[in-house]
Amino acid sequence: MASSDQAVVTEFFAEGHDHSACREAALAAAEAICRTRGMRFTRLRRRVLELIWDRDYPVKAYELLEQLRGERSGAAPPTVYRTLDFLLREGFIHRVESLNAYIGCGDPGHAHPVQLLVCRHCYKVAELADDDVARLLQQKAYARGFAVDAAVVELEGVCPRCGG
Ligand SMILES: [Zn+2]
Ligand SMILES: [Zn+2]
Ligand SMILES: [Zn+2]
Repeated sequence: MASSDQAVVTEFFAEGHDHSACREAALAAAEAICRTRGMRFTRLRRRVLELIWDRDYPVKAYELLEQLRGERSGAAPPTVYRTLDFLLREGFIHRVESLNAYIGCGDPGHAHPVQLLVCRHCYKVAELADDDVARLLQQKAYARGFAVDAAVVELEGVCPRCGG
């Protein structure tokens, strides 16, 4: 298998994909990682991660806020944004900059390069963590005297199910 195939973290889901299995696996992984790192996986942290994994497309912060407002008092916007920052920092979710939204990471808790394929029809996202791509970009940037400290690459296009 080519290394580029091994770099796929999240595929575009096929028809009939059971996303609840992904959700359960992601929550269990987050819980285990928090335990290992000595951090609390609070009810709100769990709930926000659940809400992100409930969907199989990127979720906007205001959608999370609306949903939480309906079920929980005290989940004020700053609290929810802090929770999102926590989930981002620990590598449980990624921010899709072009959509201003969040997705669950298919390989949570590991530092890895992030390349997102964003479908412009259904807004579903596949995630790659390709070291070759990251290295090439870093070399090109470095050659211009630019020190890269964060790189989220987003490609816009059409996914297989939408006929890409
Ligand atoms: Zn899934
Ligand atoms: Zn990831
Ligand atoms: Zn699509």
